[in-house]
Amino acid sequence: MTPREQTRAVRALVEGPAADLGVRHLGFCPLGDLSGLLRSRRQGVARQLAEAGGSAMVVLLPYYAGDFPERNVARYALGQDYHRVAMEILSKITAPLRAACDGRVFLPFVDSSPLPEVELAVRAGLGFRGRHGQLIAPGLGSMAFVCEVMTDLPLEPDLPVLENGCGGCRRCLAACPTGALTAEGVNTALCRSHITQKKGELTPWEARQVALGGFAWGCDLCTDACPYNRGPEPTPIGPFREDLTPVLTRENLDGLLPGKSYAWRGRDVLLRNLTIIGEERDRVGDTASGTISGI
Ligand code: SF4
Ligand code: SF4
Repeated sequence: MTPREQTRAVRALVEGPAADLGVRHLGFCPLGDLSGLLRSRRQGVARQLAEAGGSAMVVLLPYYAGDFPERNVARYALGQDYHRVAMEILSKITAPLRAACDGRVFLPFVDSSPLPEVELAVRAGLGFRGRHGQLIAPGLGSMAFVCEVMTDLPLEPDLPVLENGCGGCRRCLAACPTGALTAEGVNTALCRSHITQKKGELTPWEARQVALGGFAWGCDLCTDACPYNRGPEPTPIGPFREDLTPVLTRENLDGLLPGKSYAWRGRDVLLRNLTIIGEERDRVGDTASGTISGI
């Protein structure tokens, strides 16, 4: 079987279970020409698969669950922990493959890939990298998790690789309050989302960014500014629409942590952010400080 025929056979096996789970965007790309991009974590296994002529099946999982009048948590973290949900989805999608391809390797990755997920998704024909650094998939936008399954099967892209569709738009750059978006990508040292995830004591400037942003976790300003994210459809993936918690407080934090994606960073980081936001509210007063209550 040629790689092209192999790819068609694999797509025929996975598309049914994927559609049943609400997954409509999946594509394939060979690993070989990505070897220069390897990150340090788990790069040995990726290198082995690349040298064996292996591939990645890249899957997009939309997470938009609707708008909320009050919110201090990034949209992607509102529902159930996406690490667990995505792993379950990848396992179900690959079940027919495992049954049909005995002895082959299928390794799922969610936020732990030795390869940059956005780059994989671009090469698999699923979208392009926007100026905000996220993957933009036509018809879906950028509010989707990118995850993948690496395999020793030789597979080829069966979707055309898309040109960058940002054109002359600069809305995300204009929306970013800290200048974190540059031509080279996201400067994580300046990004409020990254700062809310930082462990330990924050510098005065970083603490000020948390206070001004008012988010205990994340920052959606560049995502929300993007025209590709206008009027999004709510996700068809149940666990991303259920158990939604738009406002994190000192009171609900401990009860939420076991089921949320931000738990991996630890309670202290979230508590620190809530304290900074609460102090800001006390300083400027409820009326002037925004709409978040209960912090
Ligand atoms: S998440 Fe916020 S701070 Fe980070 S790049 Fe986007 S707009 Fe800027
Ligand atoms: S806001 Fe405009 S420039 Fe930024 S990622 Fe979206 S389309 Fe591209």
